[in-house]
Amino acid sequence: MFLTSLLRIFLTRSLQRFRFENSNDLHLDFENTPHLGLYVHIPFCRSICSFCPYCKTEYEQPAAARYKTALFKEIEIVSRQLKEDKAATTLYFGGGTPATMLTDLSTIINKIKARFRIGAGIGIELHPDDINKEVLDTLKSAGFTMVSIGVQSFDRRCLSALGRKQNNIREKLELVREANFDVFNIDLIFAMPTQTEKSLISDIDQAFASGATQISTYPFIDFTFTDNLYKPLPEKIKKEMLNNISRHCRETGKERTSVWTFALKGTAVYSSVTRDNFLGFGVSAATLLSRQFKINTFSVDAYIRRINDNRLPTSLTLDFSLRQRAVYYLFWAAYSTKIDSNQFQEIIGEPLEKMYSFELWLAQKFGLIKKRDRLYCLTEKGAYYYHFIEQAYTTAYIDKMWNNSRLTAFPDLIEL
Ligand code: SF4
Repeated sequence: MFLTSLLRIFLTRSLQRFRFENSNDLHLDFENTPHLGLYVHIPFCRSICSFCPYCKTEYEQPAAARYKTALFKEIEIVSRQLKEDKAATTLYFGGGTPATMLTDLSTIINKIKARFRIGAGIGIELHPDDINKEVLDTLKSAGFTMVSIGVQSFDRRCLSALGRKQNNIREKLELVREANFDVFNIDLIFAMPTQTEKSLISDIDQAFASGATQISTYPFIDFTFTDNLYKPLPEKIKKEMLNNISRHCRETGKERTSVWTFALKGTAVYSSVTRDNFLGFGVSAATLLSRQFKINTFSVDAYIRRINDNRLPTSLTLDFSLRQRAVYYLFWAAYSTKIDSNQFQEIIGEPLEKMYSFELWLAQKFGLIKKRDRLYCLTEKGAYYYHFIEQAYTTAYIDKMWNNSRLTAFPDLIEL
């Protein structure tokens, strides 16, 4: 908490905290927003994993049917604001388990495509239990071009520490390979209880051998409100593991595409977080615009009630100061390991070097970034420190935000 507060004060040049207020209005200012990504949250899962912090609830058909109707309406309310069709970068479906609403996905996509032109593909997260030929065929014909499979580990002991079982995973991944999506990501977790360096490297090799074009290796984080039987491995071991992941991927010809993702060279990237601006639909979905950040309620019932009242389901709104918005942009650009000063100026409206000349000089001096033309690229050392700060941010900010939102449908105020 101390580290994140210090960084916030230093980078925003202000003691003002990020203030999320219980306010909402029908208008979202996105008509002229550049590089707009889209996200749809499906909160249903067939069973609940003890380690999972995301907004989800056990699948029930009647609730899913009411949710679908509300989701269609939310898309309509938002799209109605556009005077003409709008270009969007990507559309991602996350959850929860989006495949619990498999037969509705194509209708959701068509409703979105009625007003948005999606340029760089449509992605979906899949639980291994949902993979079969019929599901993959349905996704292909609905227009999905990117899939991300939540394998977490191929090691039975690690999986059992997570409270997971995995049957026939190799056959399932073979089906995904045969389906030939443009991007095939496998999610893995590192620093899990019982995990060794050997089993981690073996997980990475098995993921790429299964046909993955990308792996996302997330550190095991123990959220205060999850029900984990075990604690993550100590930070010293996490550091060694992340260094080994990075070295192993580099030595086997993979490219680092973010602090925690590695991909085959020349393939497109699956990333639902590194987007300059985005609109989110569904419970817990966030919306980021030029000067605002909004989060929808985490309660499925409250979400449906709000939509039925012809109102947007926003639970919290943050109005950014200029420097707060710049910090938000820099945080996620740095996660992708590249900060593009041209893009910074386009999104923030001020030159990067004018706002952060001292920080850029300092980061280069300490070997955290290197400048290449208009790009500032994280070094290996910089990527490790980013990983460290990202975990502190997750514990201090995301844990608090998600826990409060889980407990109260419309919190009065959250300050971070
Ligand atoms: S990890 Fe995936 S399947 Fe498990 S509860 Fe979370 S969203 Fe659902």
